Amino acid sequence: VQGYTGKTVAVLGLGRSGRAAAAALEAGGARAVCWDDSSAAQQAAEDDGLELRDLRKEGAFDDVSALIVSPGIPHLYPKPNAVIAAAWDAGVPVDNDIGLFFRSYATNDWDDFDTTPKVIAVTGSNGKSTTSALIHHILVENGRPAQLAGNIGRGVLDLEPAHDGEVVVLELSSYQTDLARALTPDIAVFTNLSPDHLDRHAGLGGYFAAKRRLFAEGGPDRAVIGVDEDEGRYIANQLAEAGDDCVLRISVERKLGGDGWNVFAKKGFLAETRKGRQVASIDLRDIAGLPGAHNHQNACAAYAACRTLGIGPKGIEAAMRSYSGLPHRSQIVAERDGVTFVNDSKATNVDSAAKALQAFKKIRWICGGLQKDGGLDALLPHVGSVQKAYVIGREADDFARQLTGVETQVCGIMEAAVGAAVADAEAGEVVLLAPAAASFDQYDSFEKRGDDFARLVQEALR
Ligand code: ADP
Repeated sequence: VQGYTGKTVAVLGLGRSGRAAAAALEAGGARAVCWDDSSAAQQAAEDDGLELRDLRKEGAFDDVSALIVSPGIPHLYPKPNAVIAAAWDAGVPVDNDIGLFFRSYATNDWDDFDTTPKVIAVTGSNGKSTTSALIHHILVENGRPAQLAGNIGRGVLDLEPAHDGEVVVLELSSYQTDLARALTPDIAVFTNLSPDHLDRHAGLGGYFAAKRRLFAEGGPDRAVIGVDEDEGRYIANQLAEAGDDCVLRISVERKLGGDGWNVFAKKGFLAETRKGRQVASIDLRDIAGLPGAHNHQNACAAYAACRTLGIGPKGIEAAMRSYSGLPHRSQIVAERDGVTFVNDSKATNVDSAAKALQAFKKIRWICGGLQKDGGLDALLPHVGSVQKAYVIGREADDFARQLTGVETQVCGIMEAAVGAAVADAEAGEVVLLAPAAASFDQYDSFEKRGDDFARLVQEALR
Protein backbone atom coordinates (compact mmCIF):
# COMPACT_ATOMS: atom_id res chain seq x y z
CA VAL A 1 0.00 0.00 0.00
CA GLN A 2 1.35 3.38 -1.02
CA GLY A 3 1.04 6.77 0.62
CA TYR A 4 1.69 5.98 4.28
CA THR A 5 5.46 5.40 4.31
CA GLY A 6 6.88 6.43 7.68
CA LYS A 7 3.39 7.08 9.08
CA THR A 8 1.37 5.28 11.73
CA VAL A 9 -1.95 3.81 10.62
CA ALA A 10 -4.48 2.22 12.96
CA VAL A 11 -6.37 -0.93 11.96
CA LEU A 12 -9.68 -1.82 13.62
CA GLY A 13 -10.99 -5.38 13.23
CA LEU A 14 -8.46 -8.17 12.87
CA GLY A 15 -10.24 -10.72 10.75
CA ARG A 16 -8.76 -11.73 7.42
CA SER A 17 -9.16 -8.33 5.78
CA GLY A 18 -7.84 -6.38 8.79
CA ARG A 19 -4.73 -8.54 9.07
CA ALA A 20 -4.14 -8.25 5.32
CA ALA A 21 -4.49 -4.45 5.58
CA ALA A 22 -1.96 -4.32 8.42
CA ALA A 23 0.50 -6.49 6.49
CA ALA A 24 0.07 -4.40 3.33
CA LEU A 25 0.61 -1.16 5.26
CA GLU A 26 3.78 -2.52 6.84
CA ALA A 27 5.00 -3.74 3.46
CA GLY A 28 4.57 -0.16 2.23
CA GLY A 29 6.75 1.18 5.03
CA ALA A 30 4.00 2.25 7.44
CA ARG A 31 3.66 1.27 11.09
CA ALA A 32 0.34 -0.51 11.65
CA VAL A 33 -1.18 -0.43 15.14
CA CYS A 34 -4.03 -2.89 15.43
CA TRP A 35 -7.06 -3.51 17.59
CA ASP A 36 -9.95 -5.93 17.89
CA ASP A 37 -12.22 -6.35 20.92
CA SER A 38 -12.01 -10.13 20.66
CA SER A 39 -9.05 -11.71 22.40
CA ALA A 40 -8.97 -14.57 19.88
CA ALA A 41 -8.54 -12.05 17.06
CA GLN A 42 -5.85 -10.24 19.07
CA GLN A 43 -4.01 -13.54 19.47
CA ALA A 44 -4.22 -14.30 15.74
CA ALA A 45 -2.81 -10.85 14.99
CA GLU A 46 0.04 -11.30 17.45
CA ASP A 47 0.81 -14.66 15.87
CA ASP A 48 1.10 -12.80 12.56
CA GLY A 49 3.65 -10.48 14.22
CA LEU A 50 1.34 -7.44 14.27
CA GLU A 51 1.59 -4.66 16.84
CA LEU A 52 -1.48 -4.29 19.08
CA ARG A 53 -2.71 -0.97 20.48
CA ASP A 54 -5.88 -0.48 22.50
CA LEU A 55 -7.62 2.10 20.32
CA ARG A 56 -10.28 2.69 22.97
CA LYS A 57 -7.75 4.48 25.18
CA GLU A 58 -7.50 8.25 25.48
CA GLY A 59 -4.91 9.66 23.07
CA ALA A 60 -4.72 6.44 21.01
CA PHE A 61 -4.99 8.46 17.79
CA ASP A 62 -2.44 11.17 18.64
CA ASP A 63 0.19 9.93 16.15
CA VAL A 64 -2.21 8.20 13.73
CA SER A 65 -2.64 9.26 10.05
CA ALA A 66 -5.64 7.08 9.20
CA LEU A 67 -7.93 4.42 10.66
CA ILE A 68 -8.64 1.35 8.53
CA VAL A 69 -11.91 -0.37 9.47
CA SER A 70 -13.05 -3.91 8.61
CA PRO A 71 -16.28 -4.11 6.60
CA GLY A 72 -17.93 -6.19 9.32
CA ILE A 73 -17.87 -3.31 11.81
CA PRO A 74 -20.84 -0.91 11.71
CA HIS A 75 -19.55 2.65 12.12
CA LEU A 76 -22.60 4.81 12.78
CA TYR A 77 -25.73 2.67 12.77
CA PRO A 78 -27.46 1.05 14.56
CA LYS A 79 -25.19 2.78 17.10
CA PRO A 80 -21.89 4.66 16.78
CA ASN A 81 -18.73 2.62 17.22
CA ALA A 82 -16.64 4.18 20.00
CA VAL A 83 -13.26 3.69 18.32
CA ILE A 84 -14.42 5.10 14.98
CA ALA A 85 -16.13 8.01 16.72
CA ALA A 86 -12.86 8.74 18.55
CA ALA A 87 -10.97 8.79 15.23
CA TRP A 88 -13.51 11.19 13.74
CA ASP A 89 -13.28 13.40 16.82
CA ALA A 90 -9.50 13.45 16.46
CA GLY A 91 -9.82 14.43 12.79
CA VAL A 92 -8.30 11.15 11.61
CA PRO A 93 -9.54 9.95 8.19
CA VAL A 94 -11.43 6.66 8.32
CA ASP A 95 -10.92 4.27 5.40
CA ASN A 96 -11.02 0.55 4.59
CA ASP A 97 -9.12 -2.04 2.59
CA ILE A 98 -10.94 -1.11 -0.62
CA GLY A 99 -9.88 2.52 -0.20
CA LEU A 100 -6.29 1.38 0.38
CA PHE A 101 -6.45 -0.78 -2.73
CA PHE A 102 -7.64 2.05 -4.98
CA ARG A 103 -5.17 4.46 -3.41
CA SER A 104 -2.35 2.24 -4.63
CA TYR A 105 -3.88 1.24 -7.90
CA ALA A 106 -2.91 3.76 -10.55
CA THR A 107 -5.80 4.29 -12.94
CA ASN A 108 -4.53 3.92 -16.43
CA ASP A 109 -5.52 5.59 -19.61
CA TRP A 110 -8.52 3.94 -21.18
CA ASP A 111 -6.74 4.05 -24.54
CA ASP A 112 -4.36 1.40 -23.32
CA PHE A 113 -7.07 -1.00 -22.33
CA ASP A 114 -5.48 -3.93 -24.08
CA THR A 115 -2.28 -3.72 -22.14
CA THR A 116 -2.88 -2.20 -18.72
CA PRO A 117 -4.65 -3.81 -15.79
CA LYS A 118 -8.30 -2.92 -15.45
CA VAL A 119 -10.52 -2.98 -12.42
CA ILE A 120 -14.20 -3.88 -12.71
CA ALA A 121 -16.25 -3.22 -9.57
CA VAL A 122 -19.68 -4.83 -9.19
CA THR A 123 -22.29 -3.58 -6.75
CA GLY A 124 -26.05 -3.84 -6.27
CA SER A 125 -28.45 -5.45 -3.81
CA ASN A 126 -28.62 -8.87 -5.42
CA GLY A 127 -26.63 -10.73 -8.03
CA LYS A 128 -23.24 -9.23 -7.17
CA SER A 129 -21.47 -12.54 -6.61
CA THR A 130 -23.06 -14.24 -9.59
CA THR A 131 -22.29 -11.30 -11.88
CA SER A 132 -18.70 -11.01 -10.62
CA ALA A 133 -18.05 -14.74 -10.94
CA LEU A 134 -19.61 -14.79 -14.41
CA ILE A 135 -17.51 -11.85 -15.62
CA HIS A 136 -14.41 -13.57 -14.27
CA HIS A 137 -15.37 -16.83 -15.99
CA ILE A 138 -16.06 -15.12 -19.33
CA LEU A 139 -12.74 -13.27 -19.24
CA VAL A 140 -10.70 -16.34 -18.39
CA GLU A 141 -12.48 -18.47 -21.01
CA ASN A 142 -11.66 -15.80 -23.57
CA GLY A 143 -7.98 -15.83 -22.73
CA ARG A 144 -8.01 -12.64 -20.69
CA PRO A 145 -6.17 -13.15 -17.39
CA ALA A 146 -8.35 -12.13 -14.44
CA GLN A 147 -8.49 -12.21 -10.65
CA LEU A 148 -11.65 -12.27 -8.54
CA ALA A 149 -11.66 -10.39 -5.23
CA GLY A 150 -13.54 -8.31 -2.70
CA ASN A 151 -16.67 -9.69 -1.10
CA ILE A 152 -16.09 -12.89 -3.09
CA GLY A 153 -12.78 -14.62 -3.64
CA ARG A 154 -9.67 -13.07 -2.13
CA GLY A 155 -9.38 -9.95 -0.04
CA VAL A 156 -8.26 -7.04 -2.25
CA LEU A 157 -5.03 -6.67 -0.35
CA ASP A 158 -4.23 -10.35 -0.80
CA LEU A 159 -4.25 -10.01 -4.60
CA GLU A 160 -1.13 -10.57 -6.62
CA PRO A 161 -0.10 -7.30 -8.25
CA ALA A 162 -2.02 -7.12 -11.52
CA HIS A 163 0.12 -7.41 -14.62
CA ASP A 164 -0.34 -6.08 -18.12
CA GLY A 165 -3.63 -6.98 -19.73
CA GLU A 166 -5.02 -8.43 -16.52
CA VAL A 167 -8.46 -7.63 -15.16
CA VAL A 168 -9.33 -7.46 -11.46
CA VAL A 169 -13.01 -8.21 -10.84
CA LEU A 170 -14.12 -6.81 -7.48
CA GLU A 171 -17.43 -7.57 -5.82
CA LEU A 172 -18.24 -4.67 -3.50
CA SER A 173 -21.00 -4.61 -0.88
CA SER A 174 -22.52 -1.44 0.53
CA TYR A 175 -20.47 -2.04 3.69
CA GLN A 176 -17.34 -1.66 1.58
CA THR A 177 -18.31 1.21 -0.72
CA ASP A 178 -19.64 3.14 2.26
CA LEU A 179 -16.31 3.97 3.85
CA ALA A 180 -13.72 3.59 1.10
CA ARG A 181 -12.07 6.99 0.56
CA ALA A 182 -10.92 6.12 -2.94
CA LEU A 183 -13.24 4.27 -5.36
CA THR A 184 -11.92 4.52 -8.88
CA PRO A 185 -12.66 1.37 -10.87
CA ASP A 186 -12.30 1.53 -14.64
CA ILE A 187 -15.67 -0.14 -15.08
CA ALA A 188 -18.41 0.01 -12.45
CA VAL A 189 -21.47 -2.24 -12.54
CA PHE A 190 -24.75 -1.62 -10.70
CA THR A 191 -27.07 -4.61 -10.92
CA ASN A 192 -30.21 -3.52 -9.04
CA LEU A 193 -31.48 -2.00 -5.82
CA SER A 194 -33.89 -3.34 -3.23
CA PRO A 195 -34.09 -2.70 0.52
CA ASP A 196 -31.39 -4.58 2.45
CA HIS A 197 -29.08 -3.84 5.40
CA LEU A 198 -31.26 -0.86 6.25
CA ASP A 199 -30.38 -0.88 9.95
CA ARG A 200 -26.73 -0.45 9.11
CA HIS A 201 -27.20 2.42 6.66
CA ALA A 202 -30.01 4.29 8.42
CA GLY A 203 -32.63 3.45 5.81
CA LEU A 204 -32.83 3.18 2.06
CA GLY A 205 -31.37 6.64 1.45
CA GLY A 206 -28.13 5.80 3.25
CA TYR A 207 -28.00 2.40 1.60
CA PHE A 208 -28.35 3.87 -1.88
CA ALA A 209 -25.85 6.62 -1.06
CA ALA A 210 -23.30 3.96 -0.07
CA LYS A 211 -23.69 2.19 -3.42
CA ARG A 212 -23.83 5.38 -5.46
CA ARG A 213 -20.37 6.41 -4.28
CA LEU A 214 -18.94 4.09 -6.94
CA PHE A 215 -20.46 6.24 -9.65
CA ALA A 216 -19.44 9.66 -8.40
CA GLU A 217 -17.72 12.09 -10.71
CA GLY A 218 -14.14 11.09 -11.39
CA GLY A 219 -15.21 7.49 -10.87
CA PRO A 220 -15.48 4.87 -13.58
CA ASP A 221 -14.59 5.26 -17.26
CA ARG A 222 -17.42 2.93 -18.19
CA ALA A 223 -20.56 2.21 -16.21
CA VAL A 224 -22.99 -0.69 -16.61
CA ILE A 225 -26.26 0.24 -14.93
CA GLY A 226 -29.40 -1.79 -14.28
CA VAL A 227 -32.21 0.65 -15.06
CA ASP A 228 -35.20 -1.37 -13.85
CA GLU A 229 -35.46 0.75 -10.69
CA ASP A 230 -35.60 4.50 -10.21
CA GLU A 231 -32.24 4.51 -8.48
CA GLY A 232 -30.46 2.89 -11.42
CA ARG A 233 -32.15 5.25 -13.88
CA TYR A 234 -31.05 8.15 -11.69
CA ILE A 235 -27.40 7.08 -11.78
CA ALA A 236 -27.49 6.40 -15.53
CA ASN A 237 -29.07 9.75 -16.32
CA GLN A 238 -26.67 11.62 -14.10
CA LEU A 239 -23.64 10.00 -15.69
CA ALA A 240 -25.06 10.68 -19.15
CA GLU A 241 -25.82 14.29 -18.27
CA ALA A 242 -22.29 14.88 -17.06
CA GLY A 243 -21.29 14.32 -20.67
CA ASP A 244 -20.40 10.69 -20.15
CA ASP A 245 -21.23 8.62 -23.22
CA CYS A 246 -19.85 5.52 -21.62
CA VAL A 247 -23.00 4.28 -19.92
CA LEU A 248 -24.38 0.87 -20.86
CA ARG A 249 -27.94 0.44 -19.67
CA ILE A 250 -29.25 -3.02 -18.86
CA SER A 251 -32.82 -4.22 -18.28
CA VAL A 252 -34.82 -7.39 -17.89
CA GLU A 253 -38.13 -5.56 -17.93
CA ARG A 254 -38.08 -3.49 -21.08
CA LYS A 255 -36.61 -3.33 -24.54
CA LEU A 256 -34.17 -0.46 -24.43
CA GLY A 257 -33.86 1.69 -27.51
CA GLY A 258 -32.67 5.17 -28.33
CA ASP A 259 -29.22 6.40 -29.11
CA GLY A 260 -27.41 4.63 -26.32
CA TRP A 261 -25.59 1.35 -25.85
CA ASN A 262 -27.99 -1.16 -24.27
CA VAL A 263 -28.22 -4.77 -23.24
CA PHE A 264 -31.57 -6.25 -22.31
CA ALA A 265 -33.22 -9.64 -21.90
CA LYS A 266 -36.81 -10.39 -22.85
CA LYS A 267 -38.48 -13.78 -22.81
CA GLY A 268 -35.12 -15.47 -22.40
CA PHE A 269 -33.33 -13.66 -25.21
CA LEU A 270 -30.50 -11.26 -24.54
CA ALA A 271 -30.05 -8.46 -27.06
CA GLU A 272 -27.37 -5.82 -27.48
CA THR A 273 -28.38 -2.60 -29.24
CA ARG A 274 -26.28 0.37 -30.25
CA LYS A 275 -27.76 3.57 -31.59
CA GLY A 276 -31.10 1.83 -31.97
CA ARG A 277 -29.74 -1.15 -33.96
CA GLN A 278 -29.51 -4.68 -32.65
CA VAL A 279 -25.92 -5.85 -32.96
CA ALA A 280 -26.02 -9.25 -31.22
CA SER A 281 -28.33 -11.65 -29.38
CA ILE A 282 -28.08 -14.76 -27.21
CA ASP A 283 -30.71 -17.38 -26.38
CA LEU A 284 -30.38 -17.70 -22.60
CA ARG A 285 -33.20 -20.17 -22.09
CA ASP A 286 -31.12 -23.34 -22.15
CA ILE A 287 -28.07 -22.02 -20.32
CA ALA A 288 -28.16 -24.33 -17.31
CA GLY A 289 -25.95 -22.27 -15.00
CA LEU A 290 -28.18 -19.17 -15.29
CA PRO A 291 -31.83 -20.13 -14.61
CA GLY A 292 -34.56 -17.52 -14.13
CA ALA A 293 -35.06 -13.86 -15.03
CA HIS A 294 -32.85 -12.73 -12.16
CA ASN A 295 -29.93 -14.63 -13.64
CA HIS A 296 -30.74 -13.13 -17.01
CA GLN A 297 -30.17 -9.77 -15.36
CA ASN A 298 -26.79 -11.01 -14.12
CA ALA A 299 -26.06 -12.29 -17.63
CA CYS A 300 -26.86 -8.86 -19.12
CA ALA A 301 -24.58 -7.14 -16.61
CA ALA A 302 -21.70 -9.54 -17.21
CA TYR A 303 -22.21 -9.40 -20.98
CA ALA A 304 -22.14 -5.60 -20.95
CA ALA A 305 -19.04 -5.42 -18.76
CA CYS A 306 -17.17 -7.86 -20.98
CA ARG A 307 -18.26 -6.02 -24.14
CA THR A 308 -16.69 -2.83 -22.80
CA LEU A 309 -13.43 -4.78 -22.64
CA GLY A 310 -13.78 -5.74 -26.28
CA ILE A 311 -14.76 -9.41 -25.86
CA GLY A 312 -16.97 -10.54 -28.75
CA PRO A 313 -20.59 -11.72 -28.36
CA LYS A 314 -19.79 -15.26 -29.57
CA GLY A 315 -16.96 -15.64 -27.07
CA ILE A 316 -19.23 -14.40 -24.28
CA GLU A 317 -22.02 -16.79 -25.24
CA ALA A 318 -19.70 -19.80 -25.35
CA ALA A 319 -18.36 -18.94 -21.89
CA MET A 320 -21.89 -18.51 -20.47
CA ARG A 321 -22.69 -22.01 -21.64
CA SER A 322 -19.82 -23.45 -19.62
CA TYR A 323 -20.61 -21.43 -16.48
CA SER A 324 -21.56 -23.85 -13.74
CA GLY A 325 -23.00 -21.45 -11.15
CA LEU A 326 -21.94 -20.63 -7.61
CA PRO A 327 -22.71 -22.76 -4.58
CA HIS A 328 -25.84 -21.71 -2.63
CA ARG A 329 -27.25 -19.63 -5.53
CA SER A 330 -29.91 -21.50 -7.50
CA GLN A 331 -27.65 -24.54 -7.21
CA ILE A 332 -29.07 -27.94 -8.13
CA VAL A 333 -27.92 -30.30 -5.38
CA ALA A 334 -29.91 -33.43 -6.30
CA GLU A 335 -32.45 -34.86 -8.74
CA ARG A 336 -34.55 -37.91 -8.05
CA ASP A 337 -37.73 -39.33 -9.63
CA GLY A 338 -38.43 -36.10 -11.47
CA VAL A 339 -37.97 -33.93 -8.34
CA THR A 340 -35.21 -31.31 -8.43
CA PHE A 341 -33.58 -30.04 -5.22
CA VAL A 342 -32.31 -26.48 -5.40
CA ASN A 343 -30.13 -24.75 -2.82
CA ASP A 344 -30.64 -20.98 -2.91
CA SER A 345 -29.57 -20.39 0.69
CA LYS A 346 -28.08 -17.08 -0.44
CA ALA A 347 -31.61 -15.76 -0.90
CA THR A 348 -31.30 -13.99 2.45
CA ASN A 349 -33.73 -11.17 1.70
CA VAL A 350 -37.27 -10.91 0.40
CA ASP A 351 -36.31 -9.69 -3.05
CA SER A 352 -33.83 -12.46 -3.83
CA ALA A 353 -36.28 -15.10 -2.57
CA ALA A 354 -39.02 -13.61 -4.77
CA LYS A 355 -36.68 -14.00 -7.74
CA ALA A 356 -36.00 -17.62 -6.87
CA LEU A 357 -39.75 -18.31 -6.60
CA GLN A 358 -40.26 -16.90 -10.09
CA ALA A 359 -37.56 -19.11 -11.59
CA PHE A 360 -39.45 -22.39 -11.03
CA LYS A 361 -42.97 -23.68 -11.68
CA LYS A 362 -44.11 -26.05 -8.92
CA ILE A 363 -42.32 -25.40 -5.69
CA ARG A 364 -42.02 -27.05 -2.29
CA TRP A 365 -40.55 -24.05 -0.57
CA ILE A 366 -38.29 -24.19 2.48
CA CYS A 367 -38.13 -20.72 3.99
CA GLY A 368 -37.69 -18.79 7.22
CA GLY A 369 -34.89 -17.69 9.52
CA LEU A 370 -33.90 -14.37 10.99
CA GLN A 371 -36.26 -11.86 9.43
CA LYS A 372 -35.13 -8.58 7.95
CA ASP A 373 -36.95 -5.27 8.37
CA GLY A 374 -39.89 -4.69 6.09
CA GLY A 375 -41.84 -7.91 6.54
CA LEU A 376 -42.77 -10.44 3.90
CA ASP A 377 -45.51 -8.62 2.01
CA ALA A 378 -43.31 -8.11 -1.05
CA LEU A 379 -43.12 -11.90 -1.40
CA LEU A 380 -46.85 -12.45 -1.64
CA PRO A 381 -47.27 -11.54 -5.33
CA HIS A 382 -44.77 -14.31 -6.17
CA VAL A 383 -46.06 -17.27 -4.21
CA GLY A 384 -48.38 -18.49 -6.97
CA SER A 385 -46.14 -21.42 -7.85
CA VAL A 386 -45.68 -22.55 -4.25
CA GLN A 387 -47.44 -25.86 -3.51
CA LYS A 388 -46.57 -25.60 0.15
CA ALA A 389 -44.14 -23.72 2.41
CA TYR A 390 -42.07 -25.56 5.02
CA VAL A 391 -41.06 -22.92 7.52
CA ILE A 392 -37.88 -23.05 9.60
CA GLY A 393 -36.20 -20.68 12.04
CA ARG A 394 -36.76 -19.53 15.59
CA GLU A 395 -39.56 -17.24 14.45
CA ALA A 396 -41.17 -19.86 12.22
CA ASP A 397 -44.67 -19.29 13.61
CA ASP A 398 -44.57 -15.59 12.93
CA PHE A 399 -43.00 -16.15 9.53
CA ALA A 400 -45.70 -18.65 8.53
CA ARG A 401 -48.45 -16.33 9.72
CA GLN A 402 -47.32 -13.66 7.26
CA LEU A 403 -47.58 -15.99 4.26
CA THR A 404 -51.25 -15.42 3.65
CA GLY A 405 -52.76 -17.57 0.92
CA VAL A 406 -49.97 -20.16 1.11
CA GLU A 407 -50.36 -23.61 2.60
CA THR A 408 -47.73 -23.67 5.37
CA GLN A 409 -46.22 -26.22 7.70
CA VAL A 410 -44.20 -24.93 10.65
CA CYS A 411 -41.17 -27.22 10.76
CA GLY A 412 -38.75 -25.23 12.92
CA ILE A 413 -35.56 -27.00 11.88
CA MET A 414 -34.12 -27.93 8.50
CA GLU A 415 -34.25 -31.65 9.13
CA ALA A 416 -38.02 -31.57 9.65
CA ALA A 417 -38.53 -29.31 6.63
CA VAL A 418 -36.47 -31.47 4.28
CA GLY A 419 -38.16 -34.63 5.57
CA ALA A 420 -41.65 -33.23 5.01
CA ALA A 421 -40.85 -31.74 1.60
CA VAL A 422 -39.25 -34.96 0.36
CA ALA A 423 -42.28 -36.94 1.52
CA ASP A 424 -44.70 -34.57 -0.23
CA ALA A 425 -42.82 -33.87 -3.48
CA GLU A 426 -44.09 -35.26 -6.76
CA ALA A 427 -42.47 -35.59 -10.18
CA GLY A 428 -42.07 -32.24 -11.91
CA GLU A 429 -41.72 -30.31 -8.65
CA VAL A 430 -38.78 -28.42 -7.22
CA VAL A 431 -37.82 -28.54 -3.54
CA LEU A 432 -36.36 -25.08 -3.11
CA LEU A 433 -34.44 -23.65 -0.18
CA ALA A 434 -34.87 -19.87 -0.57
CA PRO A 435 -35.22 -18.59 2.99
CA ALA A 436 -36.00 -14.87 2.50
CA ALA A 437 -34.21 -14.40 5.80
CA ALA A 438 -30.75 -14.38 7.33
CA SER A 439 -29.39 -17.60 8.79
CA PHE A 440 -27.93 -16.38 12.08
CA ASP A 441 -30.74 -17.60 14.33
CA GLN A 442 -29.76 -21.21 13.57
CA TYR A 443 -26.53 -21.18 11.55
CA ASP A 444 -23.18 -19.36 11.47
CA SER A 445 -23.68 -18.43 7.83
CA PHE A 446 -25.87 -18.93 4.79
CA GLU A 447 -23.22 -21.36 3.49
CA LYS A 448 -23.63 -23.60 6.56
CA ARG A 449 -27.40 -23.46 6.10
CA GLY A 450 -27.11 -24.46 2.43
CA ASP A 451 -24.67 -27.26 3.25
CA ASP A 452 -27.05 -28.57 5.89
CA PHE A 453 -29.89 -28.58 3.34
CA ALA A 454 -27.78 -30.43 0.76
CA ARG A 455 -26.62 -33.00 3.30
CA LEU A 456 -30.14 -33.64 4.62
CA VAL A 457 -31.46 -34.00 1.06
CA GLN A 458 -28.81 -36.64 0.34
CA GLU A 459 -29.69 -38.48 3.54
CA ALA A 460 -33.42 -38.33 2.87
CA LEU A 461 -32.94 -39.74 -0.63
CA ARG A 462 -30.73 -42.56 0.52
P1 ADP B 1 -25.14 -10.99 -3.91
O1 ADP B 1 -23.69 -11.28 -4.01
O2 ADP B 1 -25.51 -9.62 -4.37
O3 ADP B 1 -25.75 -11.35 -2.60
P2 ADP B 1 -25.65 -13.45 -5.38
O4 ADP B 1 -25.20 -13.56 -6.76
O5 ADP B 1 -24.85 -14.14 -4.33
O6 ADP B 1 -25.85 -11.91 -5.00
O7 ADP B 1 -27.16 -13.95 -5.29
C1 ADP B 1 -27.84 -13.91 -4.04
C2 ADP B 1 -29.24 -14.41 -4.16
O8 ADP B 1 -30.01 -13.41 -4.81
C3 ADP B 1 -29.36 -15.64 -5.04
O9 ADP B 1 -29.44 -16.75 -4.22
C4 ADP B 1 -30.63 -15.45 -5.83
O10 ADP B 1 -31.72 -15.96 -5.13
C5 ADP B 1 -30.81 -13.96 -5.85
N1 ADP B 1 -30.37 -13.28 -7.05
C6 ADP B 1 -29.28 -13.52 -7.83
N2 ADP B 1 -29.21 -12.62 -8.81
C7 ADP B 1 -30.24 -11.77 -8.64
C8 ADP B 1 -30.71 -10.61 -9.32
N3 ADP B 1 -30.07 -10.14 -10.40
N4 ADP B 1 -31.84 -10.01 -8.88
C9 ADP B 1 -32.49 -10.46 -7.79
N5 ADP B 1 -32.11 -11.55 -7.10
C10 ADP B 1 -31.00 -12.19 -7.52
